[in-house]
Amino acid sequence: MRMVMASANPHKAVEMVAVLREAMAGVEIVPRPPELGDVAEDGETLAANALIKARFVCAAAGEPAIADDTGLEVDALDGGPGVHSARYAGPQQDAAANSAKLMSALRDVPAGGRIARYRTVVAVVFGDGREVLADGVVEGAIATALRGDRGFGYDPVFVPDEAAPRTFAELTSEEKNRISHRGRALRALAARL
Ligand code: IMP
Repeated sequence: MRMVMASANPHKAVEMVAVLREAMAGVEIVPRPPELGDVAEDGETLAANALIKARFVCAAAGEPAIADDTGLEVDALDGGPGVHSARYAGPQQDAAANSAKLMSALRDVPAGGRIARYRTVVAVVFGDGREVLADGVVEGAIATALRGDRGFGYDPVFVPDEAAPRTFAELTSEEKNRISHRGRALRALAARL
């Protein structure tokens, strides 16, 4: 079976293909056709946004499509930025600006109060209308300074409990995929398909 990668972010697509190669060995993941435009991710939940992307690409490409949507939930920010993580510092979706705004928002929050988690929802949409969803979470904390140059997005500020004191940006891609929100969501999805 073939599935079109509906997530446009190249960092995510690389991680997803690496996990799916093991979790869904019989499925060929096809790159998102470059001529497909962007679709507005204006859902109010991660699941809604994952479905918006997967439905759009499934309809446009005429093949099953897989998408993810991710949010960083910080307890001291009442679960924010959550579904708004990509545009936290503005519509330009700048990773450095997003991390800087987060560090500044938590300036007065001591190490023990910086509890956070990444949450991912993945969705597969088939041409016959079947839709399958799964989610994955990794618990951790927001670091007090940015560290590491691997990964993407908020990775330099996120310390997963299972690899502390290293940030996600200090892990190899294999280490990150083994414990990450996205790795867990994709393995749960594979078990459901
Ligand atoms: P979206 O799922 O593309 O909407 O991503 C939401 C925001 O979270 C964006 O700012 C991404 O850069 C960031 N993000 C998503 N996944 C990860 C990750 O695995 N590590 C770090 N940041 C991420």
